[in-house]
Amino acid sequence: MTNILIKGGTVVGPQGAIPADVLVIGEKISAIFMPGDGPVEGDFEVLDATGKYVIPGGVDAHTHMELPFGGTFASDTFDTGTRAAAFGGTTTIIDFAVQRTGEVVQDGLAAWHAKAAGECHIDYAFHQILGGVDDESLKAMDQLVADEGITSFKLFMAYPGVFYSDDGQILRAMQKARDNGAMIMMHAENGPAIDVLVKQALERGETDPIHHGLTRPEALEAEATSRAIWLASVAADCPLYIVHLSASKALEQVAAARDLGRNVFAETCPQYLYLTLEDQLGAPGFEGAKWVCSTPLRSKHESHRADLWRGLRSNDLSVVSTDHCPFCFKDQKELGIGDFSKIPNGIGSVEHRVDLLYQGVVDGKLSLSRWVETIATTPARMFGLYPRKGVIAPGSDADIVLYDPSARTRISVETHHMNMDHSAWEGYEIAGKVDTVISRGTVIVSGDAYHGRKGHGQYLRRGLSDYLV
Ligand SMILES: [Zn+2]
Ligand SMILES: [Zn+2]
Repeated sequence: MTNILIKGGTVVGPQGAIPADVLVIGEKISAIFMPGDGPVEGDFEVLDATGKYVIPGGVDAHTHMELPFGGTFASDTFDTGTRAAAFGGTTTIIDFAVQRTGEVVQDGLAAWHAKAAGECHIDYAFHQILGGVDDESLKAMDQLVADEGITSFKLFMAYPGVFYSDDGQILRAMQKARDNGAMIMMHAENGPAIDVLVKQALERGETDPIHHGLTRPEALEAEATSRAIWLASVAADCPLYIVHLSASKALEQVAAARDLGRNVFAETCPQYLYLTLEDQLGAPGFEGAKWVCSTPLRSKHESHRADLWRGLRSNDLSVVSTDHCPFCFKDQKELGIGDFSKIPNGIGSVEHRVDLLYQGVVDGKLSLSRWVETIATTPARMFGLYPRKGVIAPGSDADIVLYDPSARTRISVETHHMNMDHSAWEGYEIAGKVDTVISRGTVIVSGDAYHGRKGHGQYLRRGLSDYLV
């Protein structure tokens, strides 16, 4: 490993954009200098960052590598998915370990460690999905927080018979989280009601992909979001994080709770900021299957996308994650030909989040600081990785991206690195480009060249969220 002096760039963080040089010694950031004030010679390589932004590596707090879903598996492994993430300027992922219903929580976690160990190109951590809340899994929550560095637990108000927890189970898990300081992450959609609408649609012969969206209306996301917020209040304001928020009325619920000073947070994902029910999910024939994900893409004729961008600016939405859950079109999405309810749910974006959000800066929808905050700093703070990750500061891990605002990125299946046979973002052009990616002091991406390796990424034990009092 060589030491590195990053010279001539503009360091961007929540505090603003400041011309500065950054010295990396070993795996850590050692010092930040006023331009030209750093060492002139010594045991380091100089990286010229003239004209580039120097930002903390992206932290994607919501990925699903190799997730079993709908009779198949998400098509990225920890190897292919974390390599693709690295190309896109993300240097940490938080994936979801799964406890299936009836399984011991620690066994589910061990299975996830076995999938990821030695395979990751960048650092990784886990949230734990609870597929059932009972006395044993409540005890397991304490053990995971105390011993395993897992401080957040995902519950589902959707998918009855798969991951679903009823309100009583949710309340018990929330009470436990209130006690041990963990975060409850919620998939907030009313699953039982959705299942009725799905059945009725299929009986009417409505089988195309667009009906996936039409049977998951905004009201059922807003209702579940509201219910989760009320349940968390019954659990003495247990910390609650709404995942993949897509709808204006769900955002209203979160904003109202935050106005009251509640421990309520939410993320959205790039697909909800750009893609729509009509233009993507409603594509002719079976094409729309590429964009089947839950929560679904929303109508372009309503206010969702504008409201989500505004929510990011106002901090009613704290984080942008991908919910990366890729499935190939052939043989995977195709499982749902003739029945939209059998299409595996998920979109692959782990490689594109940093770029897609930078386009928001170019379009005047986000400030430069807020871009870095939503893709790196806040997710690190939200999930107990700060200040090791998410910031350019002495003592932090040297996870650094040099971002070139004068270059362009064109997204295509021809050039992406995710293990997918299509891109949900085919043809998208971004006015900006990831130039160099450093993970714990090692340059792993330089231009289009890859220098990383699987096994470089380490498991991260997380602390409690920074945002709780
Ligand atoms: Zn979900
Ligand atoms: Zn997810």
